[in-house]
Amino acid sequence: MNSFLTKAKKGLAGIKNRISGMADDKFLRIYQHQLSILLTLMIFLAAGIPGADGATVRPDDGQTLSGLVPAYQVSVDGAELAYVSDPGPVKSALAQKIEGAKRQYDMDVSLNQEITFEKKLVSPKRVCLPPDTENVIRREAKVQCNASAVYADDVRIGTVKNEKEANEFLDRVKSRYVENGTEPESVTFQEEIRIVPISVPPDQVQDVDTVLAETAKGREAVQEYTVADGDTLTTVAESHDMDLDRLVAENSHVPDPDHLKPGQKLRLSCNVSPLNVVTTEVIPQEEVVPFETEVREDESLDRDRTKILQKGREGKKKTEFRVEKINGKEKNRAVLSEQVLSEPVKKIIAKGSGKAELSVTSSRGGGRSLFQPASGRLTSGFGQRWGRLHKGIDIANSIGTPIYAADSGKVIFAGTSRGYGNFIQIEHGSSGLITCYGHLKSFDVSSGEVVRRGQLIAHMGSTGNSTGPHLHFEVRVNNTPQNPISYLP
Ligand SMILES: [Zn+2]
Repeated sequence: MNSFLTKAKKGLAGIKNRISGMADDKFLRIYQHQLSILLTLMIFLAAGIPGADGATVRPDDGQTLSGLVPAYQVSVDGAELAYVSDPGPVKSALAQKIEGAKRQYDMDVSLNQEITFEKKLVSPKRVCLPPDTENVIRREAKVQCNASAVYADDVRIGTVKNEKEANEFLDRVKSRYVENGTEPESVTFQEEIRIVPISVPPDQVQDVDTVLAETAKGREAVQEYTVADGDTLTTVAESHDMDLDRLVAENSHVPDPDHLKPGQKLRLSCNVSPLNVVTTEVIPQEEVVPFETEVREDESLDRDRTKILQKGREGKKKTEFRVEKINGKEKNRAVLSEQVLSEPVKKIIAKGSGKAELSVTSSRGGGRSLFQPASGRLTSGFGQRWGRLHKGIDIANSIGTPIYAADSGKVIFAGTSRGYGNFIQIEHGSSGLITCYGHLKSFDVSSGEVVRRGQLIAHMGSTGNSTGPHLHFEVRVNNTPQNPISYLP
């Protein structure tokens, strides 16, 4: 056959030489036809058809026609990795890899890929030696850890080893907001919590401390705030739980930060916790029950004179509150039960409505000498209330209850003020004493007017930041709020 091939090659070379020597296209097509017949003949010879030598190639025992051997194709996710004659060592290499990873990560581990073994016929050269294949499989096979992800309202908070660690993490977040020695009624999360099984590469599994630290740091949220009437940097920082220094630093574009103007834009960035703990506690508290004050008109008394007919006395009660806190901060307080320990005694004042009038300037003699500005129940005293200074007292009664000037003086403000609603301020001489009246329904005096002690100036309402009809009454000396109680009869 070799001699025939040699002859064929020689013939071919000759044709090629003749083609290259020709310039005419017609001759070229003729010789190309001869060439294709010759090539077809050669392919038949190579495929074992009886040739010039008369010999036939046949497959012998264990070998296929073309010398192929049976082997297993090892594929990773459908892609061919290697051919092995025995899949056993490869399978045990895989098992070793998984066992090793289980010990290394102390977790439940599985393969990240689908590894298949398929029997095929291949050239012996392609079949790998066993040690080779095992090394390849150790390198190529990727393991995944069967971990637990913690979600809060569909936000992944972290990924830990297992459900036990996930619960440990959640318990430790809760315990941050349970004060030592207290036993809250309930401790829950504001968000919907889910613990979900998840397969991740080993380096994505976090330890509980890391997830705790990340959660504590929170996620930064930025918002724009439009300055409202009466806002200062301090009040904005307070109402948004922000650090004042940080607010100042982030708003360096504001030209005069000490005097904010309504409509100015501020940048507020605060860290928002992705996980919020809600605790409810039942707190018993002993409270003072304020007494009511009733003002009665008395014609037998001169105008502007007052006389105490009955001394008032505070009562006592025991109240149980249910307090709801979010991340340790009080958000809600509801009264569960109330038990009166001693009833208060009403205070009754007679207010002169007779003919004689005192002059505007001679009324005050210092000490507890202001006129009771309204009848009603003292619902809130002076001092710290819900973490803020309550600058006056609240006297509650029905809408329209008359409100009197606490002393003679000049009305320096009668209009609307933020929070106070309809508001009156009276200046009492040059002593620096000012009295203020908030949440009014209507005005009976106007700014600039001179008023007498005990003169009707307004009627009780619930305007401004008020939860019900009451008078908010303030006493200021040189602009510092005083406790009005020590000025009243
Ligand atoms: Zn008030």
